[in-house]
Amino acid sequence: MKWTDRDIKYLVNNYSKRVHVDDICLYLKRGRRSVQHKAVRLGVGRKGMLVKRMGDVTPREIIDKRYYLKNKSKVHRRRMDRRWRIKLKLVKLMGGKCSLCGYNRCVPALEFHHKTKEKDASIAELIKNTSEQNVLKEVKRCVLVCANCHRELHQKDP
Ligand SMILES: [Zn+2]
Repeated sequence: MKWTDRDIKYLVNNYSKRVHVDDICLYLKRGRRSVQHKAVRLGVGRKGMLVKRMGDVTPREIIDKRYYLKNKSKVHRRRMDRRWRIKLKLVKLMGGKCSLCGYNRCVPALEFHHKTKEKDASIAELIKNTSEQNVLKEVKRCVLVCANCHRELHQKDP
């Protein structure tokens, strides 16, 4: 559905006045995403909110990017170190060996298996993308197993 001049005018006038988004949606007969997207494209902000237009880059992002390009290997190593440090901590916390066969020779060959089916992400993904506290919370729902036992578990229970 095309935005008419009248709709755009209404949006510009009401969006910045903190009229509730749901009310604007109702009036314009459009979804939240559509309304918010259009507002951002038009550069209309809610009071006290930083409006980011499409393609705008914040100074912070420019600095981060510059730093990354200059220090790629350092950033990469730090990331890997962080993941390794958290994994070691988790493995230690979970007893340091496969809970099924007792294997403990190689930490990278130890994995976390979710006891229940309800999981949002694997522990490896969480280590990569979220905080340490978050991983520690999630790991309580897992058992430590070696790679072989892990595959067997999933073979039995696909
Ligand atoms: Zn095992």
